[in-house]
Amino acid sequence: MSSRAVAPPGCDVLVVGAGIVGLAHAAEAVSRGLSVVVVDRDARAVGASVRNFGHCCVTAQSGELLELAQAARERWLRHSRDAGFFSVESGALAVAQSSRELAVLDELSASREPGQVQLLSTQELRARFAAIGGSAVVGGAVLRDDVRVDPREAVGGLAAWLAAQPGVTFLWRTAFLGGSSGVAETSRGTISATRIIVCVGHDLDYLYPQLSADHEIERCALQMALVTSPASVRISAAVLTGTSMLRYPAFAETIAAVDLSIELTETDPLLIEIDANIMFTQRPDGTLIVGDSHRYAETIDPFLGESTSRLLLARVARVLGVNRLRVLQRWQGVYASSVQHPYLVAEPERGVTAVTVTSGVGMTISLGLAAKVFATLD
Ligand SMILES: Cc1cc2nc3c(=O)[nH]c(=O)nc-3n(C[C@H](O)[C@H](O)[C@H](O)COP(=O)(O)OP(=O)(O)OC[C@H]3O[C@@H](n4cnc5c(N)ncnc54)[C@H](O)[C@@H]3O)c2cc1C
Repeated sequence: MSSRAVAPPGCDVLVVGAGIVGLAHAAEAVSRGLSVVVVDRDARAVGASVRNFGHCCVTAQSGELLELAQAARERWLRHSRDAGFFSVESGALAVAQSSRELAVLDELSASREPGQVQLLSTQELRARFAAIGGSAVVGGAVLRDDVRVDPREAVGGLAAWLAAQPGVTFLWRTAFLGGSSGVAETSRGTISATRIIVCVGHDLDYLYPQLSADHEIERCALQMALVTSPASVRISAAVLTGTSMLRYPAFAETIAAVDLSIELTETDPLLIEIDANIMFTQRPDGTLIVGDSHRYAETIDPFLGESTSRLLLARVARVLGVNRLRVLQRWQGVYASSVQHPYLVAEPERGVTAVTVTSGVGMTISLGLAAKVFATLD
């Protein structure tokens, strides 16, 4: 996996972008016995795919996204075994801090097969998840099918494993400049490929501005932090809260979510103002990835508001029942967002397929989406 590697004279598939969407397509191509070249303009993936929670949020999806997420779940677990990176079939824990939040969980549970959304009383929740010490917690639910990876390890680990497969070449620090009909121009020369699959995330507008505009794609920026684990915290499940219930489709589509939205707007308007999704995941070293807020724009203002950061940390501390959290790192993550559809698959040029996940579910669906894309190319 060297940036000095030389491109083969031709390949079946050229994948542009080594984030999870690009890697998902490279893995799918490999599973079909195709030769693959992956180019990325950076020396390693440092985009959205390493900045997230590593949460494959399966259970709270609905419709087609749920199908894609279930297909992705099975692939995450397989790749984790093959490539040797951390994954855990932890499920997720949705923590309720009001009766309206409980009502959302109740309604979702009733609509699903038994066991997929397991309701917990406060006592059951505390017995199973000692880390959740917040006095406001009134119950919750385990979302059975969710899995987790450590994004900082999984994306690099999957790329390294793919690079070791026969017929696969990675060209890092190589920017795709454009192409069609099997010929790609890159910053290191021309590569010929039967099919070019462009997976450049929120930077789609740099390559295909009209396509991006037609699909109303803009950037969504999230504030995140890594904190040390408060003494007793050991929790393998991803932890979601009431704000998550306004965001993930299966929650948001419940009738009870309407009342919850009204309640949260009245009781915690600052959270609504920053469009928060208060959640956290624990990395294998015990540190917690906490977040997040959402800001939408074509070009993102680079300055991070400290009040947003403080609010996010305070609300996570409240769930854990601790006074404060010690911050080790802060960062901003950016993903593509569209009001039209959660993902885009289009052919901007002959022989070129552009794939961008346009909502915050790239880790959840990409490995399933790639299979769907290849099925349509067959
Ligand atoms: C803070 C945060 C938290 C999130 N949490 C979750 C979560 O828990 N679960 C979930 O499902 N999703 C989550 N998401 C969404 C998910 O991370 C994204 O949907 C997904 O990572 C997008 O993957 P990508 O490959 O499209 O983008 P990226 O990871 O950004 O990769 C795009 C790649 O393309 C390369 N590139 C761009 N232009 C070119 C070019 N011209 N030539 C060559 N290379 C190029 C870039 O260098 C980059 O490596 C989160 C996102 C963020 C930001």
